Amino acid sequence: MPIDPDFATKPKAGSHNDHDVRGEVKPPEKLGIHGTQVAVDHDVCNGDAICVSVCPVSVFEMIDSPGHPLSDQKSDPINESECIFCRACETSCPTQAIKITEL
Ligand code: SF4
Repeated sequence: MPIDPDFATKPKAGSHNDHDVRGEVKPPEKLGIHGTQVAVDHDVCNGDAICVSVCPVSVFEMIDSPGHPLSDQKSDPINESECIFCRACETSCPTQAIKITEL
């Protein structure tokens, strides 16, 4: 299932690496949606790191997610404020885990 396009309406569950986290968070199975203008659903991310490769401004960093049922690494939008909205990550992600929103 792709990232929820209405994720921003969900209550904030906390913050991580200077970005907001929304949705259900119950580690290690449920990790929520990380970021706002660059949002990555960590429960949809398969850890293939394609977004890391295609992003021209190094928004993403892979982090460990041991025990998650889908993958043991996730892409984290640690530099989301640097995004130039090219949408390369969004269109390249095979699991549609990323949603870009120009704020
Ligand atoms: S939209 Fe472009 S600049 Fe922004 S995070 Fe995705 S690949 Fe990087």
